Amino acid sequence: MARAKLTIDLDALCDNWRALDRHSGNAMAGAVVKADGYGLDSGRVAVALAQAGARHFFVALAEEGARVRQAIGEGIPVSVFSGHMAGDAALLRDFELTPMLNSPEQVKRQFDALPAAPFGIQLDSGMNRLGMEAADWAAVRGDVLARDPDLIMSHLACADEPDHEMNAKQLRAFRDMTDDAGVPRSLSATGGILLGPDYRFELTRPGVGLYGGAPFMDAKPVAHLKLPVIQCRDLEAGEAVGYGVTWHTDKPARIATVAAGYADGLIRAMSNRARLFADDVACPLAGRVSMDLLTVDITHLDNDPTWFELLGHNQTVDDVADAAGTIGYEILTSLRSRYERVYTGEYA
Ligand SMILES: *Cc1c(COP(=O)(O)O)cnc(C)c1O
Repeated sequence: MARAKLTIDLDALCDNWRALDRHSGNAMAGAVVKADGYGLDSGRVAVALAQAGARHFFVALAEEGARVRQAIGEGIPVSVFSGHMAGDAALLRDFELTPMLNSPEQVKRQFDALPAAPFGIQLDSGMNRLGMEAADWAAVRGDVLARDPDLIMSHLACADEPDHEMNAKQLRAFRDMTDDAGVPRSLSATGGILLGPDYRFELTRPGVGLYGGAPFMDAKPVAHLKLPVIQCRDLEAGEAVGYGVTWHTDKPARIATVAAGYADGLIRAMSNRARLFADDVACPLAGRVSMDLLTVDITHLDNDPTWFELLGHNQTVDDVADAAGTIGYEILTSLRSRYERVYTGEYA
């Protein structure tokens, strides 16, 4: 079989959630399962995390929220970062989703369509991406607070850089807008949790750290990706490998051809830069990533491997991301459907 195998360790996922919940101190850790659970299946991820104790989920879109609600059943809040978009009312109502309202228009839409339904508010504290500006908030705040929102949240732009001046600036702006609101608050994702108690409020929103990514450096690896070898061949000095013959050897070499490529989310920017592991020995990619294939320099190995590990105990999503000039989030959310997916752990 030439299908690569993606094993998702739900025990490691739950351990990462428990660790981030502890790091959240007096705040409760929720869990962000947007983008299909960072590519690992939002339904399965949410079910496991709910069993481990997570009591608040976050998604980007109402459609994602519906899927999570179907997986976890009633009772646990599922909040939607994009808020209440035109056409969302039925989904929000039928799947008991909590929109994080981002503008006075969204506030009006919510109060017109679902006057008695739960909602939250998203404020902009300086990132200028989602949420109400201070002036918008001042204009609607009286009406909004009279209707008892479940949560007021904002998001940090630079939480993965603890010394960045934006962190304290955004904290101040968020507090100025909310200190006397009397509503539970949430400011921090994975990076913000690690900035300390001032940033935690009542609820935190870890995402990437749950799935084994930076800036949560103690994260256990969750995604384990193994790629089968299709064939191995000897090259003579002067030969080259792959599209565009971008890798050359000036001495005899041996190359393994492996069954996965950019159609599986192993992005082309990894070409000639990322490494795979045969047992625990690093082997560099030789040549460009193709759609379905990788070529790997195994000249230094004693035996031809039958499998390589790309993600797992030898190498994190961030190691691969560094080699490809991107971030762990993009490596994770790029993993595609062609893999055989195996879920392991107590709640699998
Ligand atoms: C994606 C996201 C999170 C989770 O962020 P991580 O860095 O993955 O922990 C939290 N809050 C908001 C608003 C987000 O968009």
